[in-house]
Amino acid sequence: MKVHFSRLDEASGYCGKCLKQVPVGRPGIRHGPHLILTLLTGFWAIFWIRDARRPRPWQCLECGAEVYKIMSDPFAKGEQR
Ligand SMILES: [Zn+2]
Repeated sequence: MKVHFSRLDEASGYCGKCLKQVPVGRPGIRHGPHLILTLLTGFWAIFWIRDARRPRPWQCLECGAEVYKIMSDPFAKGEQR
């Protein structure tokens, strides 16, 4: 079994290049190293939060283009303001 993209957020969106609805993905946040650094230094939590809040572009899994229109974002729930 291949383990590539083991940390990948997945959703579906509309790709402007493929001109259809495609599966999209973006690299997930690796919390492990952040947790260790936070435990070691204490103040690293600032960088952790900053990294977690950084906007990560979605990519079309078929052509690799950036996708801005997300149809179903499972991570959007609970993030509404
Ligand atoms: Zn595409």
